[in-house]
Amino acid sequence: MTSKNDSKVFTLLGHKPSLFMVFFTEMWERFSYYGMRALFVLFLTSEIIDGGWAWSNEDALKLYGWYTGLVYLTPILGGFIADKFLGYRKAVAFGALLMTLGHASMALETPTFLYIGLACLILGNGLFKPNLTSIVSGLYDKNEEKKDGAYTIYYMGVNAGAFLGIMLCGYIGEKVSWSFGFGLAGIFMFLGMLQFWFGRSILENVGLPPKDKYELDDIDDEIEDAVEEIKEEVKVSTKVQNDRYIVVGILAFFTVFFWAAFEQAGGSMTIFASKYTNRVLVGNAASAFKIIDAVITIAPLLIISWVLYKLFVQTFKKISLSNIILGGSFTIIWAIVIWKLYREFNADTTEVPASWFGILNSLFIISFAPLFSKLWESKYNPSAAVKFGLGLILLGFGFALLAFGAISIPQGAETATVSMMWLILAYLFHTLGELFLSPVGLSYVSKLVPAKLIGLMFGVWYLAIFIGNWSAGQLGGMIDEITSKYSLTTFFLIFTVVPAAAGVLMILLNPVLKKLMHGVR
Ligand code: GLN
Repeated sequence: MTSKNDSKVFTLLGHKPSLFMVFFTEMWERFSYYGMRALFVLFLTSEIIDGGWAWSNEDALKLYGWYTGLVYLTPILGGFIADKFLGYRKAVAFGALLMTLGHASMALETPTFLYIGLACLILGNGLFKPNLTSIVSGLYDKNEEKKDGAYTIYYMGVNAGAFLGIMLCGYIGEKVSWSFGFGLAGIFMFLGMLQFWFGRSILENVGLPPKDKYELDDIDDEIEDAVEEIKEEVKVSTKVQNDRYIVVGILAFFTVFFWAAFEQAGGSMTIFASKYTNRVLVGNAASAFKIIDAVITIAPLLIISWVLYKLFVQTFKKISLSNIILGGSFTIIWAIVIWKLYREFNADTTEVPASWFGILNSLFIISFAPLFSKLWESKYNPSAAVKFGLGLILLGFGFALLAFGAISIPQGAETATVSMMWLILAYLFHTLGELFLSPVGLSYVSKLVPAKLIGLMFGVWYLAIFIGNWSAGQLGGMIDEITSKYSLTTFFLIFTVVPAAAGVLMILLNPVLKKLMHGVR
């Protein structure tokens, strides 16, 4: 569908420069989300003398579960508000503002402000997340064939943000002060918001409030869309459609198991890193870690800075203020990174922060995603159920490694010093699992349901993630009880057996699901 005129627009890595403005907006939001998430449980459970609140693991993990769950429930409301009243742009900006206030509130570190902060983050995320995704979709409405690529780039923004956020907020929070760590998350949320708001003019007319968006062109488009939709719906019988709803239901159901285990990352796995893992390195191991840490920090940052430069060249005339704010944000990031590396290279002892392991997820995603997209394009592309099943099994396997690594820990022990290798390997397999599962979820939902019900079905999907993340907190909260009655290995075995069993079941269901999908691939 791309006409000759349109091709002029795709000037940045084959995509629209506006996609990258949105990429950076999402990057800063994920920076603050994951930066805060990396510190949350550690801060609450740390001793008072270490500046924490000495909460029990159970209380901290339960609150973590409510928080990480509710951020997926409010998007249902946020999507609705944007569609009916605000439009995507204002919803995104207002959501970002609320989240900035939320992070600021959390940095004050009193119980009341903690809860107010969390409430702002939950509501803000609801306005932000679904609507920024809709902007990407809107930018590519007339270029369906480029949409997958656009989402891949956007997903890189998600992971680049998670990576930098966990790395920097985690480091500063653990090594300097919790408040500074939480505060850093807030500062970049704020700068990200400004960058978006002052850059919004390059979004063509995507994301305006419902009433000012109708111009003649749009009415033409809508008629075209309506005709498309009618054509589609004539083809699909009620029986076929009902079968496809069942598939969405089954996928959503299994999603719950995935997130319930996966989201241990910021929860019990962070506690495992903090209390049970040997993170003090000496000699060659310390030198090796410093070098690896420097390389994996600087390399992605160089790549993103290069993208930033390209964006400047393309858009400086149009959205100079937005670009200047973005440039300023990156200057601060570079300064912090250089300060951190300098500090580490000159330190007498090397202690890996407990939050550090969280960066491995985004790092592995960024490294392996290109390989996986090649795989999905090849003849080895498995069916949805097989991808889903393998994703769950790999996740379970990651926990099996943790269970194995924890074998030497005596029953009821409150601390231990097992090798970091287990956590690193667990994150590797968890990420491979995520890469199998992530292309299945939302993209199949959008293919399996008629256009007018996509919003509702995304709601169902988010509901499943809510239940998954919430359960992660509830189950993770049982860590001490299970460790004292049985062992830490038993605790991790639960997260081995449940996802792996769900995965095997999913693969067995493959033929049934294929039938119920009626040709959707
Ligand atoms: N890591 C992705 C993100 O934060 C997906 C998480 C999810 O779908 N639960 O956007």
